[in-house]
Amino acid sequence: MALIVQKFGGSSVADAESIKRVAKRIVDTRRAGNDVVVAVSAMGDTTDELLDLASQVAPLPAPRELDMLLSSGERISMALLAMAIHSMGYEARSFTGSQAGMITTADHGSARIVDVTPVRVREALDEGAIVIVAGFQGFNRDTKDITTLGRGGSDTTAVALAAALEADVCEIYSDVDGIFTADPRVVPLARKLDHVSAEEMLELAANGAKVLYIRAVEYARRHGVLIHARSTFTANEGTYVLGEGMAHPRHAKKETDVTDVTGMEEPVVAGVAIDQSQAKITVVGVPDVPGSAAAIFALVAKTGANIDMIVQNVQSASPGRTDISFTLPKPSAAEVLKVLTAEKETLGYENVVHDDQIGKLSVVGAGMRTHSGVSLTLFEALSKAGINIEMISTSEIRISVVVRNDDVHEAARVVHSAYGLDSEIEATVYAGTGR
Ligand code: ASP
Ligand code: MG
Repeated sequence: MALIVQKFGGSSVADAESIKRVAKRIVDTRRAGNDVVVAVSAMGDTTDELLDLASQVAPLPAPRELDMLLSSGERISMALLAMAIHSMGYEARSFTGSQAGMITTADHGSARIVDVTPVRVREALDEGAIVIVAGFQGFNRDTKDITTLGRGGSDTTAVALAAALEADVCEIYSDVDGIFTADPRVVPLARKLDHVSAEEMLELAANGAKVLYIRAVEYARRHGVLIHARSTFTANEGTYVLGEGMAHPRHAKKETDVTDVTGMEEPVVAGVAIDQSQAKITVVGVPDVPGSAAAIFALVAKTGANIDMIVQNVQSASPGRTDISFTLPKPSAAEVLKVLTAEKETLGYENVVHDDQIGKLSVVGAGMRTHSGVSLTLFEALSKAGINIEMISTSEIRISVVVRNDDVHEAARVVHSAYGLDSEIEATVYAGTGR
């Protein structure tokens, strides 16, 4: 008998019909002889609606109260789901995050899980019940207050429960079939991956892939949790996210040696991700002397902006001066421009330019460590498509470029094709948000 943790996102429990469908899915898993613990998100767009409501009564809602409000979304779906399971003749018990022992830091709106003490969850399992836990929320021991984990936090709830309960697998259900080589809404010939390494998944998530939340993948990697990302709408196998030393269950069952795990060589590139949430700021004509970059980024750091790519280039037109460009989340740009403009005299630069029409494309693959010429394929594909590259950055297993935002979808398609990732058939895209 296995212990399976299942997570259902908001789009999977959007209305009464969907809740009944999910309940059936859970009962089927139980009937197959497994213990089942479920983490559930708020119904549909509930969290957004609650946020909207809060902003109507207060311009800056008190963080403690906002968490009280937002955590109620998951209480609605957990209770309804438990009721639906009951009416199918199975014992089900719902628990809030704090009842389930999700202990977090005190940071309202972005709390991190520091401990999981699922005493009541275990008791309920021992008594034969299916357990439903409200996702996205926890409890801080010092303040004794309810916290939330940040948007999309139910993935993390599920993974943390799976780790604490030593579950066999953590199944994350959404309205897509698994993890694809690219977003199928952008690249119709994207292929579903059979498995992906946790390190590749982290890079993909950090660079714009929305199918799994980065914190959940991090937690899974640290605690050795096997994630299976799959669809609520089909019984098909999805994608396994494999941490170090883990094997795909289908292969792990066979007592074959490791070289047989996939039967073929891993592709160099696992996937292509795009990120359209960033802006670019260029500080033009900075004095090319030691300390200039330090002075600029000291100011930027004070705003709390999360800087991604940085490029510096000596100006050939005016010797002794250099241009520094960097990218950052669009909402952070206004504040950064303000501090840079205020210090124009002291920094001694000529001009500052803001550009919010950029798109970032990243290619991720662990095979880059051992293969050469991987970036050339990317550059040639973009060149053939007439797409201009504005910035380039690389890590050990990733190459990213900044292009015009209008070009980024086309760029994703040509690059996907250039790496031989295209499938013969178009991916099925269900209506919905992907969550
Ligand atoms: N309901 C929360 C949100 O919409 C948490 C989640 O869906 O995972 O962000
Ligand atoms: Mg949601």
